[in-house]
Amino acid sequence: MLRDNVKRNEIGQVEAILCWMCGTTVAGWTDDNIAEVRSVNNQQQMVVRQKFRVLANYRKVQTTLDTGELYSPIVCAKCAPRCGCADIKAIMANDMDVQAKQGLKREVAAEFAKKRVVSVDRVVKSQGAE
Ligand SMILES: [Zn+2]
Repeated sequence: MLRDNVKRNEIGQVEAILCWMCGTTVAGWTDDNIAEVRSVNNQQQMVVRQKFRVLANYRKVQTTLDTGELYSPIVCAKCAPRCGCADIKAIMANDMDVQAKQGLKREVAAEFAKKRVVSVDRVVKSQGAE
């Protein structure tokens, strides 16, 4: 299980979204079909634009917590059917730990992590996945 499913570069920009279970990339920067010509220091350069895309293996596992709230972590197509309540609970603990490090109040994160996963409801693909 990952500690954080968001991969960032050295300056903090998001490089990829990873499956919480296995670490496979499920969203990231891919080359666009559009190339542009830019002028840099009076020289023409071909630049292939990149676009942040959700990939075909991107899945969200919709679950219901004991409070009635929904919690839908991101995983890959391979891991999604194998996700049970215990897996979701482990992902939730990691997720809250990461969010606490990123500024969510520690008490709020700890309170959320206490919630029980009552059911794993369904797996959803992202619209716009390629
Ligand atoms: Zn996976």
